[in-house]
Amino acid sequence: MEEKPLVIITGASSGIGAATAKLFADAGHPLLLLARRVEPMEALQLPNSMCRAVDVMDVDTFRSAIDEAESAYGKADCLVNNAGVMFNADPTTQSVDEWQKMLDVNVRGLLNGIHLVLGDMVERKAGTIVNIGSIAGIKTFTKHAVYCGTKFAVHAITETIREEVCGSDVRLINIAPGMVETDLVNSSTDEEAKAGWWDYANEIGGALQPESIAQSILFAYQMPQSVCVREMVVCPTRQEP
Ligand code: NDP
Repeated sequence: MEEKPLVIITGASSGIGAATAKLFADAGHPLLLLARRVEPMEALQLPNSMCRAVDVMDVDTFRSAIDEAESAYGKADCLVNNAGVMFNADPTTQSVDEWQKMLDVNVRGLLNGIHLVLGDMVERKAGTIVNIGSIAGIKTFTKHAVYCGTKFAVHAITETIREEVCGSDVRLINIAPGMVETDLVNSSTDEEAKAGWWDYANEIGGALQPESIAQSILFAYQMPQSVCVREMVVCPTRQEP
């Protein structure tokens, strides 16, 4: 059987990242799984996988983990830039610290991932970067002002770099989920905003399961390299906005 190339997934310790790790492992890929908490990634017990405690804001440990995985499994063919945080809140009371964290992880952390693999992919004329955007990167939602700002940035960064590297056969793909049932919203300190998210999810019969996003990522990645699914917006059918 042909050996599959290395796939790097950030934010693989829960939610969409963990579901994506399982699906890519089933598809036979060696994996580098990254998040700050290493235990939940190790608990997945995926074959041919390396789990490393990496904060995506720390370029040096991020780079070391990639170097280590590439020494073991060969060059990375895919980076799923998935790590992210969301603190929903009223903007008149939200702390600047929460704003800073969203900007840091969702934008600078994602850029760090791109920085660490893009040059090499362009040189090899191969590779795929899947950035996890959001429907909040396409339209705005109240109590999501800065989160929307970060995801609009993800969409703009993805599309601009895609234009710039497409001539080297490198793909940049933006997967934009709607509501997905994960821990994401639970870090919000604004209890009303947090409850509002879950109330609406319940009202529409539930948010998506993370596996549906994982399948979308795998589908886009498995298309031939000459086909670029530039953007996929995947929401619960009953999600109205
Ligand atoms: P989860 O909270 O379940 O997962 C977030 C992941 O990001 C965790 O594995 C977390 O790991 C990791 N992470 C957070 N901060 C850092 C950091 N500084 N360094 C490394 N890893 C970090 O949420 P989801 O699975 O829902 O989120 C995944 C992505 O999907 C995010 O980009 C989110 O914005 C996006 N998304 C989610 C939607 C939803 O409705 N759930 C909708 C649209 C987009 P750890 O804490 O161990 O570091």
